[in-house]
Amino acid sequence: MSAQTHNITLIPGDGVGPEVTSVTRKIIEATGVKINWEVCEAGAEVFKKGLATGVPQETIDSIIKNRIALKGPLTTPIGFGEKSANVTLRKMFETYGNIRPVKEMPGVATPYQGRGIDLVIVRENVEDLYAGIEHMQTPGVAQCLKLISRKGCEKIIRLAFEFARSEGRKLVHCATKANIMKLTEGLLKRTFEEISKEYPDIEAQHIIIDNAAHQLVKNPEQFDVIVTTNMNGDIISDLSSALIGGLGFAPGANIGDDFAIFEAVHGSAPKYTGKNVINPTAVLLSGVMMLRYLGEFNAAEMIENAFALTLDQDRVLTRDVVGDKGSVSTTTFTDTIIKNLGKKYPKLVTRTYKPLILPRIGAAPDMVRPKERQVNGVDIFIESNQSVNTVGKSLEAIAAATPFLFKILSCRGVKVYPKPPLKNPDVVDHLCARFTTKDGSSAEDDMIIDLLQKVGSSHRWVHIEKLNAYDGKPAYSKTHGED
Ligand code: NAP
Repeated sequence: MSAQTHNITLIPGDGVGPEVTSVTRKIIEATGVKINWEVCEAGAEVFKKGLATGVPQETIDSIIKNRIALKGPLTTPIGFGEKSANVTLRKMFETYGNIRPVKEMPGVATPYQGRGIDLVIVRENVEDLYAGIEHMQTPGVAQCLKLISRKGCEKIIRLAFEFARSEGRKLVHCATKANIMKLTEGLLKRTFEEISKEYPDIEAQHIIIDNAAHQLVKNPEQFDVIVTTNMNGDIISDLSSALIGGLGFAPGANIGDDFAIFEAVHGSAPKYTGKNVINPTAVLLSGVMMLRYLGEFNAAEMIENAFALTLDQDRVLTRDVVGDKGSVSTTTFTDTIIKNLGKKYPKLVTRTYKPLILPRIGAAPDMVRPKERQVNGVDIFIESNQSVNTVGKSLEAIAAATPFLFKILSCRGVKVYPKPPLKNPDVVDHLCARFTTKDGSSAEDDMIIDLLQKVGSSHRWVHIEKLNAYDGKPAYSKTHGED
């Protein structure tokens, strides 16, 4: 154990959070590692006090000062109103990578027992649909923006490869839905293919996310590291945790260039609050990840040995593993781990861990700088309950007196005018009208504004998108049914 005292922000959290974080604190302290815990609030109680972020300034200041936090789960209000305090913390501290290891637990019976599952999901943590940019575009149609940046892709992919190196792992899969979302998910795939060349010591493979889910259930031992977008990663990491005994065993780390927040994958499991039955392993193993991040490799291994002995040799198991009969309380589980500290579990498979060193990506916001740009036209989104023929004909007439050609009307990405594939397409009151310049020149802003005013005089427009082209290549998707 190092002689250094580490300053750590501790957020007990909601529901079972205070129980599982206090267990973790107790076990870490029993290893002899010196930690000065700064206990801070976030989550449900803070929302109740009327703070919409759920994260008070004192907590923010503490993390800024300490740079490292151990966090219990926080309850997220559902529906309208407050944002998730978890997502706020991840975004506020730019912890762009969420590392979620999934490793077979010694002595925990699952259909996969003995197959040696030992994989890590590296989930992008601040972009994608989780940016939470949502709008009701019409009273009955909601939109969520899926923002993926080249910079974000590069950061998460480099993190995946650097993490693989820090643990001596040899294979990184990139899991995307690039076959459908060619620009957003495709950006991660293309960046992966480019950056992977800088890591010739590690095998790189792309896999479509739905097949990744299938393969994770069928043959999980084929995976080593999987890097993926935020939403995909959220889903496949919960799925993967079930392979090794459930959410009670799934730790995680939110890693950024300057801050790291360690937390379980699971939530506040409110039905178990205060019952002394919860499995604290997920937060405990998040604490083990934190110890390695701090360079406390011996203490980390000490806990792993004691934990494995508790499960596999002493058969001291919590309710989620063996059900009500024969299970022990959270307190007994904790005390047994502490009793086993210092003993060796003979079957422990350890890795040669090296410190994780993250390369800094350039600070410039515009990582991609095309030599040439053009605006081919504009998509104008319209709220309308008129027939698509009426809207289409009206837009044709409007476009005739402008430099634009009205190309196509679509609804939810499918062409509905002219000549829809189905005679009577099922539409909603959210239509997209695509206009391109008649002579192929670039659409200037004043031309677009003039067109918008003309369209707006007969229709309720709700949103526009420029049809950009970079270096001669259209930078927008075609509508289904568009030529
Ligand atoms: P959850 O709290 O993760 O619980 C879902 C189920 O997973 C539990 O009912 C339990 O299954 C099992 N489980 C979770 N933690 C366990 C543990 N330590 N030991 C044993 N079993 C465990 O998910 P939720 O009920 O959907 O979410 C509750 C709240 O937590 C929500 O407000 C949600 O937004 C929030 N949340 C927070 C975080 C975070 O802070 N990072 C993450 C996810 C969710 P059984 O019912 O089968 O026993």
